[in-house]
Amino acid sequence: MTHASALSIAPIQSSVSAAEWQARVDLAACYRLCDRYGMSDMIYTHITARVPDAPGQFLINPNGMLFSEITASSLLKVTEDGELLYRPDLPYGLHPAGFTIHSAIYRARPDAASAMHTHTIAGMAVSALKCGLLPLTQTATRFCGRIAYHDFRGPERDPSERDLLAQSLGALNYCILRNHGLLTVGASVSEAFIAMWGLERACQAQLAAMACNTPLEMPSEEVVEKSCSMYAPGNSRTYGPLEWQGLLRMLDRTDPGFRD
Ligand SMILES: [Zn+2]
Repeated sequence: MTHASALSIAPIQSSVSAAEWQARVDLAACYRLCDRYGMSDMIYTHITARVPDAPGQFLINPNGMLFSEITASSLLKVTEDGELLYRPDLPYGLHPAGFTIHSAIYRARPDAASAMHTHTIAGMAVSALKCGLLPLTQTATRFCGRIAYHDFRGPERDPSERDLLAQSLGALNYCILRNHGLLTVGASVSEAFIAMWGLERACQAQLAAMACNTPLEMPSEEVVEKSCSMYAPGNSRTYGPLEWQGLLRMLDRTDPGFRD
């Protein structure tokens, strides 16, 4: 009897820079965490990170691997112009919509080091509400006033979509892709992940409250503004790096294969 086995991917740590390897390990961890916390969508959606010491290059998942299978050595390396610089020996290539969305971000936002995109039920549902994300919870107020909205025009496979997405995002780090899902951008993989974690939970809490068929208690504008400003960059710590160390320790205890 034959058993399905893990994919066999040649380790590449010795053939890439230390900075690229670190980005690969963090990004592979992010895929595993995305899956662990219920934010993956089979093989769909994508999370990326810049190659820190190679301008114009970023890392992305091979289109065909489950997020729970992603390893540091499995990630594709691609330029912002779509040239595939590295792919493991697997029959999995670059996802066109993934390339469009992430290359749009890196071309337009020199400050972005990582971007994460999800199709969770809560994210898709809030993306379909005219009201968008409401400041109903403390968690949501972290995002209110800082969320971009991008209209749906069909799957993002057309390169012309890149300029439109960059325009919608502007200088913001959080985006609701209408009728589609969620997008976060960060100065590190950990920032993009923790932002997505919070945005996802804000969406889940809003939907749970709205489903109760009872009037909603909305904080006053004054309170929302105060809370929002307490989360503003410069007024609070950077969310991501502190949480990330604990998350990596958890993965190292329970799912260390991301480091391969
Ligand atoms: Zn998508």
